[in-house]
Amino acid sequence: MKTSTASMLYFDHSASTPPHPDVIRTMTEVMEQIYANPSSIHHMGGQAEQLVRRAREVVAGALNASPNDVIFTSGATESNNLAILGTVGALAGGRSRHIITSAVEHASVYECFRELEREGTAVTYLPVDEHGRIRPEDLEAAIRPETALISLMHVNNETGSVQPLAEAGRIVREHPGIVFHVDGVQGLGKLPVDLEGWGVHLYSLSGHKIRGPKGVGALLRRGQAPLKPLFAGGAQEHRLRPGTVNVPGVIALSKAVRLAVEEQQANYERWSELRGLLLSRLEEWDPLVLNSPPLPLAAPHIVNLSFPGMKSEVVVHALEELGIIVSTQSACSSKLHQPSRVLMAMTNDTERAASGLRISMGADTDAASIERLSDALAEVTKRLAPMRTSRR
Ligand code: PMP
Repeated sequence: MKTSTASMLYFDHSASTPPHPDVIRTMTEVMEQIYANPSSIHHMGGQAEQLVRRAREVVAGALNASPNDVIFTSGATESNNLAILGTVGALAGGRSRHIITSAVEHASVYECFRELEREGTAVTYLPVDEHGRIRPEDLEAAIRPETALISLMHVNNETGSVQPLAEAGRIVREHPGIVFHVDGVQGLGKLPVDLEGWGVHLYSLSGHKIRGPKGVGALLRRGQAPLKPLFAGGAQEHRLRPGTVNVPGVIALSKAVRLAVEEQQANYERWSELRGLLLSRLEEWDPLVLNSPPLPLAAPHIVNLSFPGMKSEVVVHALEELGIIVSTQSACSSKLHQPSRVLMAMTNDTERAASGLRISMGADTDAASIERLSDALAEVTKRLAPMRTSRR
């Protein structure tokens, strides 16, 4: 890389955002001082166990859940796998059931559904409208007597589209046997979370999207939804997730969750304003097309744009040369070099789906950085426009 990271402007917070200084401090202190295994019966183990208990209370408190609902995991990929494979695994008679998700889920949900489908479970992938949202009537129509699980994300990681969870929850409630899972990774700290109001049984969250550490997350299990653990091992995490608990990680995660919820409203207002500032210059970047829906159908921190006829990697690298870091699609899928599955589901337009740029804001994003980003977008679109493979 030519430019040092210090002078770069970072707009890839949805892939990972820098940890909060308090989170780093707490994590370091715990790593230095509380190193015993929380499952050990001596007093040092007891001290560690007490910290884990406190972390559980803080996460539960921030999300209006009970401490017994909190299962600490290695991140949301694991939480999503546990929610989906664990729910289907717990069904009597196994896999001959029906499960529902959407076409725009993160790979850690989508690939679980694909795997279960290959193994014989019937799957419905709900389509989305041009805003990237499922239609509640499609969900209602898809439910069958044998439907066991519905999994929907709160906020889409590529476009910021918000799913109609309250409406979905109302529909799910009419079918008491169905487990409702929400991948809340990109919504937590960005929008209010109402697990009770939405009737959610399982909720996934991840540390590194909310200024916490990487490699730690949680699955909240409300109402004792039946789950089969993914791993064999010890009795940790209510016998649902064996393995020594990551004590510094879960303490740091709990701090990050609390801060994310406390600061959500203020951040929402700040990002909404910055988004408005960014989009007010859309006409200047003439070939760019906005993929994200308008507020409040999207969360404000993610803006997805396409440059039809231009591969998104080219634009990402051109911006990088100007000191601006943005991304193509989900970091977990960006190395596949395929058109974005999410943008395809929304637009059915291969050019748009192959040329998507994701700009995602974080705690350090301010008006000056948005101005610099806008200038860079104007420069890059002007410079690259003659190289487009198609003009529309
Ligand atoms: N779900 C969504 C919506 C995400 O954006 C991500 C992270 N890209 C994940 C799940 C996976 O989270 P983790 O990185 O903690 O495994």
